[in-house]
Amino acid sequence: MAPQDERDPNCIFCRIVAKEIPAKIVYEDDAVLVFHDIRPQAEVHLLAIPKRHIPSTKELTENDVTLIGQVMVAATKAALALGLTEGWRTIINTGAIGRQEVMHLHVHILGGSKPLPAMIKW
Ligand code: 5GP
Ligand code: ZN
Repeated sequence: MAPQDERDPNCIFCRIVAKEIPAKIVYEDDAVLVFHDIRPQAEVHLLAIPKRHIPSTKELTENDVTLIGQVMVAATKAALALGLTEGWRTIINTGAIGRQEVMHLHVHILGGSKPLPAMIKW
């Protein structure tokens, strides 16, 4: 099994990668999938994921350096393809403190026709 085929059958994003669950896909290659978030938090809200199941950034190792680069490049391609030429925000939530809900590493891409709200309040 190629590394990018490693999946968790109980993971919703692995099931989207396997096309068992539908998603509005905007970019796909061998290693990465980018699709619209089902509950958008901005005019445009995409999720860029590695096809290989990595639960979160906590599990990243040196072996994942290329893959994470591929995810970021795919995120940029998708953002520009959807017309976000003036910019966007990328967010990665990690673990309970980061309020990560889906335990398959994903990069949120948020944008639209006007500037987003300020970052976060603490
Ligand atoms: P997290 O809180 O883990 O950083 O973000 C998970 C994101 O996944 C949320 O924004 C949520 O709306 C999105 N999401 C959860 N389930 C699905 C799904 O089945 N399909 C799609 N397209 N997005 C999902
Ligand atoms: Zn997964």
